[in-house]
Parts: sequence; structure tokens; C-alpha cells
Amino acid sequence: MSTQSQISNLLAAAGSLPQTPSGLTTNRLRELAKAATYSETRNERKKLDVLAPFTGEFFGSLPLGEPDDVVEACRRARKAQKSWAATTFSARSTVFKRYHDRVLENHEEALDLIQLESGKTRYDAFLEVGDVAVVSRYYAYHGEKAIARNSRPGLVPLLTQVEVNRVPVGVVGIIAPWNYPLTMAITDAIPALLAGNAVVIKPSEETPFSALWAAEQLSASGLPADLLHIIPGDGPTLGPTLIDSVDYLHFTGSTKTGETVAKQAAERLIGSSLELGGKNPLLVLEDANLDKAVHGAIRDSFASAGQLCMSAERIYVHQSLYESFVNRFAEKATRLKVGAGFGWDIDMGCLASAEQLDKVEAHVEDARRKGATIVTGGEALPDLGPLFYAPTILTDVPETAELFGHETFGPVVSVYPFSSDDEAVALANGTEYGLTASIWTSSPSRGRSVARQLRCGTVNINESYTAAWGSTAAPMGGFGKSGIGRRHGEEGITKYTEAQTIATQHLIPIAPLTSMTTEAFAGVVLAGFKLIRKIPGLR
Ligand code: NAD
Repeated sequence: MSTQSQISNLLAAAGSLPQTPSGLTTNRLRELAKAATYSETRNERKKLDVLAPFTGEFFGSLPLGEPDDVVEACRRARKAQKSWAATTFSARSTVFKRYHDRVLENHEEALDLIQLESGKTRYDAFLEVGDVAVVSRYYAYHGEKAIARNSRPGLVPLLTQVEVNRVPVGVVGIIAPWNYPLTMAITDAIPALLAGNAVVIKPSEETPFSALWAAEQLSASGLPADLLHIIPGDGPTLGPTLIDSVDYLHFTGSTKTGETVAKQAAERLIGSSLELGGKNPLLVLEDANLDKAVHGAIRDSFASAGQLCMSAERIYVHQSLYESFVNRFAEKATRLKVGAGFGWDIDMGCLASAEQLDKVEAHVEDARRKGATIVTGGEALPDLGPLFYAPTILTDVPETAELFGHETFGPVVSVYPFSSDDEAVALANGTEYGLTASIWTSSPSRGRSVARQLRCGTVNINESYTAAWGSTAAPMGGFGKSGIGRRHGEEGITKYTEAQTIATQHLIPIAPLTSMTTEAFAGVVLAGFKLIRKIPGLR
């Protein structure tokens, strides 16, 4: 049976597809499935059913990827990469400038797919589309500078000429999570491709269609064949083969899986970057504007129903503001419009899977049992759909509660008082994570001074998470158990290259001439070093 007829057969068995603004059809899903890479040699295939969290029903399915598909994708990627690497950056960037425009033009369909697969609101889905455009634009216009050939001072001034090249690693493997199904699948591939690599992506098995859409649009923007492959399938089944077949691994997901894949990458001595979990603090200093802080805390805690790596799960409020903050925050959280739907009027969607709901319920129950106060929420909302959970605020959370220091990844946030900036810093730094933080204050310089004492990769001042995340020119990543390496900025593209130094020695070698003793040569070196140290232009 051909791959195309397998796709048709398996999609024919798709479940119920709700009506969406862009008018998604099963035929359209079938077309998207063609953007996946499947080995032609396999006859039998299992089916990967994809759930719509809003309803808890399957809306589509596609052939489940197997390790031989990964091997085939990497083989084709490796072949295609050679000629791609030989093109100029300018030629490569043209594809991504087109991609920027195309993604924006066709965004309605992307929003439908993201919402269908993840259960988030239209606005949260829109931020993913915006992010893909911002990352494409940034690297298309600024990526070249980071990886262009450049010269460095040589050992012997004027006589040692040194150039540094950035050579693409070859084939990059990307493993992505379900929580931001479009942006987490494709944005880390953009700099990898622009640097001259090919990419093989294993998206989350829960959200393959958004990744396929991203790949289809990139192909339509002019990316040559075989440079980008998507293999929809299970992590533990495909992950090891992917890591065995690529030259670099970029992983985004939980800290637990990150530890597993990092070991496999280390065994092969390939580079890897890991974007992992967090338990992010939000600090409200005593001089903060309370309305703005409450507004920011709502967005920070409940965007994508808290299933955002940068979500705040711990809020520390100066004791002078604590009571009014908790009251206003709870009042606002209670008024959020929670629900399923493709309109722009909904403030919070649902959790993405039954596992997520189970974890959220278990964390809240555990905290409640150990003495925490549920200020608002603390319960599932089955009338809205099978995976809805109320925006939940806790106080008096004891250190023994599981959610005190561990990521919940849901619409659940704990609030604690503090009495000084030093105490706030100590509390904020009190977990093994270090992804991001948010600080609210009427003095930006005080905010920056507190920020510099935090052990985390990004800090937003008077903003929940978008300022740091969306400032693509600056690196983004985690300290401690939140990860290794960075995405965005120069770091986000140079990591997909190997630095190569070429040194050319002119006129005389760096060794004693035939007529010279080694002792005399050492004397020349000593005199030379002393001279270089004295002349600013040569140091
Ligand atoms: P996860 O670790 O369960 O899965 C992530 C990906 O890894 C999926 O594609 C999965 O199929 C794959 N996988 C699972 N086991 C594997 C294995 N043994 N080998 C190879 N691949 C394997 O994470 P998740 O539940 O999908 O995502 C949620 C987590 O991701 C949260 O902890 C969140 O904080 C984190 N996250 C971090 C960032 C960041 O930028 N730091 C961004 C988004 C999400």
C-alpha cells in the first residue's frame, strides 16, 4: 500500500471535526498529513488519533510514525543539506521573509488547528502565530551577522591572520511539546535552517497537525524539498532513533524527559540544548501599581490555562499590599470567561489532556489536604467540557505541598507575603528551576536591581512574560533544572553551527629560525609579549 493511500485510509476513520472559522475539513487534514515523512517500505501502519480537548473527542488521525520513518527522514535530510549549505544566507533568508508574510496571511487556519489540538483561546493561539512571524523576521534579517565569517587577532600581530567560520552542524533534530504546538515545533527550526542545516522534527503526538501546517507553509514559501521533515509519533519510540541519527538535538519539554534525552545526546557526543520546566515567581514590590500588577498576574497565571513554560505559579507580594492584592486578584480571576470556542471573547480555555487535568487536581488536593487555603477555584468545570478547570488561587501553601516547589502546569497559582526585597529574592530563588520571573514596581531601576539577583534566564519588569519572550534578539532559556543552552538572539543560531578557526601564518614561522637556538627564540618571545602588553591596539 502506498503512503498516500495509507494516509487516506487512516484519515477516513477520523472522528468528528467541529465547525471552525476557517472551515477546516477532513480533506484539508488529509492534505496536511502529506507534509509528514513516512518510509515507503512499511506496509502496515498504526493510527495516531488526535484529540480536541474542548470536547474530549478525536477530530482527526494520521499514520503513526515509526523509527524507520526517522531513519528515512534523516537520510533524505542529510543529502539535501549539502546543497542547501552551499547557498548564500541571502538566498536562504528569502524563503523566511516569504514565510513571515505567508504565516500572517493564512493565520486563521493556523489558529483553528492550534485551538483544536490544544484547547487554548483564540488569542493565545494568535500569540503563537505572531511568534512564528517575529522569529522568521528576526533571523532572516539579523541571523547572518551572528554566523558570518569574521577575523580575530592572531598570536603574532600582523603576521598571524585568523578567520572564524561558522559551519552548519548538518542535520538538527527537534523534539517539541504540545503546549505551544505551532511555535514550539517550528521556531527553533527557523535559525537551524537559516544557518544551512536540515531539520527533522518530532512534534508532540498530541499536536501533530499544527507542526504539519508549519512545514506545509514553509514548503509553499520556497524551502527546497527534504530539508524539513515532520514525523508524528510517540516520544520514547521515535526519540532514541532521532537522537542516534542527527548531529544536534534541540529539545523542549519536561525536565524529566530532558534529563533522559540529554544523556542520550551526551553518549553520542552531539551538542544539545534543552528548554525545560519552571516554577516561575512573580514579585509585587511595595511600590507597585496594584491594578497593573493584578492585571499582569492574571495574564501570567492563566494564559493558555497556565500551560505555558513562562507562567507564574508563585506570586510573592509585599506584606503592605498582600491582602488587597489577593482580594483583587481573586475577584478578577473569578470574572474570567472560561469556555470552549473559536471566538475571541473567551479568556481561558481548557487543559490539553486528561493527564494534565489529573495532575492539576492531584496538586490542588494535596495542597488543600496539607492546609492550603483555596481562595478561588480549586475544582474542575465539567459543565464546560471534560478538561476544564477553574482559575485557582491558593494561599497558606505549606512547603510540604507538592506544588510548593514543583511545576503544576495548569491554572493554579499560590500567593505568599514577603517583608523586604532581600526576602523576596531568597524566596524567588528557592526552587531548583530558573526559567523566568516577573517583577512589578513603580521604579524600573529598582526592578532591574532585584532582577539581577534572580537565578533565572529571563526577567520581565512590569510585564508578565511577553516582553522578554517576544524580544527575539535577546537569548531565552533556563538556569538549573530549567535547561541548558538558549534559543533566540545570536545564541539561538550559533548553537546550530560548529566554530572553525583558520589561522594563516605569514613571512616567518612561530618557531626558532634554523640559525637560532631555542633559548634565543624564547628571549624574542618574552620581549615580544612585553611589547604587545604595552601597545593597546595589539593586546
Ligand atoms: P514531555 O517531556 O512529556 O514531552 C516533550 C516531547 O518529548 C514530546 O514530543 C514527547 O513525545 C517527547 N518525549 C517523551 N518521552 C521521550 C523520550 N523518552 N525520548 C525522546 N522524546 C520523548 O513534555 P510535555 O508534557 O509535552 O510539555 C510540557 C513541559 O514542557 C512542561 O514541563 C513545560 O514547562 C515544558 N516547556 C518548556 C518550554 C521552555 O521553553 N523552557 C517551553 C514549552 C514547554
